[in-house]
Amino acid sequence: MTISSSTTATSATVLNGNAFAAQIKAEVAEDVKVLAAQGIRPGLAAVLVGAVPASQIYVRSKVRTCEQLGLYSDLITPPESVTTEEMLELVARLNAREDIDGILIQLPLPAHVNTKRLLEAVLPEKDVDGFHPVNVGRLQSGQPALAPCTPAGIVEILKRANLPVAGQNAVVLGRSDIVGKPAAMLLLQQNATVTICHSKTRDIASFTRNADILVAAIGRPGYVTPQMVKPGATLIDVGINRIHDRQLFDEFFPGTHPDDAARAEMFASKGHTIVGDIHPRAFELAGAYTPVPGGVGPLTIAMLMANTVRAAKLRRGLL
Ligand code: NAP
Repeated sequence: MTISSSTTATSATVLNGNAFAAQIKAEVAEDVKVLAAQGIRPGLAAVLVGAVPASQIYVRSKVRTCEQLGLYSDLITPPESVTTEEMLELVARLNAREDIDGILIQLPLPAHVNTKRLLEAVLPEKDVDGFHPVNVGRLQSGQPALAPCTPAGIVEILKRANLPVAGQNAVVLGRSDIVGKPAAMLLLQQNATVTICHSKTRDIASFTRNADILVAAIGRPGYVTPQMVKPGATLIDVGINRIHDRQLFDEFFPGTHPDDAARAEMFASKGHTIVGDIHPRAFELAGAYTPVPGGVGPLTIAMLMANTVRAAKLRRGLL
């Protein structure tokens, strides 16, 4: 099924991430039912260290989604003072547990914990975030892997919206291990011609103006301006930036677009709004684009659920 997305006044197609995520979650719930009939219940262990408010919100949302879709979940909350050794012991116990198919360690961890060692301690078969070097290598060499959830979500959006990828010029802004690099690798696998830009790239606009698909993942509000976009391009905005400043808000949402009024209401009630790395005026030139919020964001949890079910099947030789 193709989710037809709404069309703006400028005729760009809005890629509705909530609708795509709902579709993926419905498929996961179906898969979970089929596995249940075979006596299998996929399980996710979510490890949340300390009390970082944003991490708490993310992890609770992940656990709640497990419950909604029929997956087993175990929330483990070591204190902020936990040591690397204690975390390694915890991961070893989770690796050995039969009821756990996926292990999620919510990042960032406290500075005194060795994140790299921990991520490498997770069994690659249970690495549902796709951060283990074995999965990174498998992704790079085109072997079946557990791919990081946000980049996997980007590819799902393109696929489900029937947007062409093969042969397209894809430009990825950002080269993080979590988003930029794996997004580039997945697009390459789909036969796009991929360019990665980063903070040392000269004249970024000369690359973005050639992009049929532009993925922005740099964490800079409204960085991509209309002048940087090829008309008709597919714009995928991964950035999540909170803006509090009224002047900046007025610059982003001057009241000239039909959606600006709803934004102004949100800003007035909450004192902030969330914007991506692509300026809202640039979306008006797009063929299709993911809005912020409600674009790429919702796919991340949906893909985590899909990865957990996939890990459960792979571990039992069902795929
Ligand atoms: P990150 O680890 O901070 O990486 C940012 C990347 O952007 C780096 O590669 C950096 O280049 C590059 N960069 C920064 N400023 C730049 C500039 N002015 N011009 C060109 N490149 C620049 O960030 P991340 O984890 O990849 O996340 C990126 C954004 O996506 C953030 O807003 C984050 O909140 C959001 N995000 C959303 C989701 C989701 O939707 N579910 C998930 C993850 C992240 P260098 O490598 O040269 O420093």
